Amino acid sequence: MAAFDTPPIDDVRTPIGRAFWQCCHCDPSCCGLDAYEFRFDSFQTWASSVSRAEFEQVSAEVDQAIEALESAPDRFYFLDDEHSRSEVSDWFRRAQEALTAVRPAD
Ligand SMILES: [Zn+2]
Repeated sequence: MAAFDTPPIDDVRTPIGRAFWQCCHCDPSCCGLDAYEFRFDSFQTWASSVSRAEFEQVSAEVDQAIEALESAPDRFYFLDDEHSRSEVSDWFRRAQEALTAVRPAD
């Protein structure tokens, strides 16, 4: 199966991993992509606990992932299983959409 590099959203040692963890409601091995629900208030809780720099880094990584996905293979392994490019793009776009309403701590 084709591989494709995405940000380490399931590694809580990374800034993006900590942000996405706040939106994770189950184990990806159980619910897959649906383990994550990208809600404004979940991201806001996270954003209020980190620096503006960390907030901006994560927002930029989500933007970059969406851009990079345009040249991804049609199907590839992501998170828990094989997914289509559009499935993973839509998933990141939902995260991006929720993030646009979030205000960083200051
Ligand atoms: Zn589950």
